Amino acid sequence: MSPIDDSYHPADVFDSARRTAQQHANGGHCFNCTDSRACAQYAWALDELSRHPGGRDVLKELQIPVPVEAPTEEGQQR
Ligand SMILES: [Zn+2]
Repeated sequence: MSPIDDSYHPADVFDSARRTAQQHANGGHCFNCTDSRACAQYAWALDELSRHPGGRDVLKELQIPVPVEAPTEEGQQR
């Protein structure tokens, strides 16, 4: 099971990102965690949330600093 699959539902994606951020904010691990310090799922979640006004509210609530937009030169291509 992956948060991103063929049936791409924005609401599901948002919810998944929010849940991941919450789990990390609590000092926990998300379902995809192998290393909470370098969790790709968490990085994805932050990226996803920072794109939505609602997601920014979530980040603010969790006291997670909104990531600055970084150049995506690597790792984003498919
Ligand atoms: Zn994680």
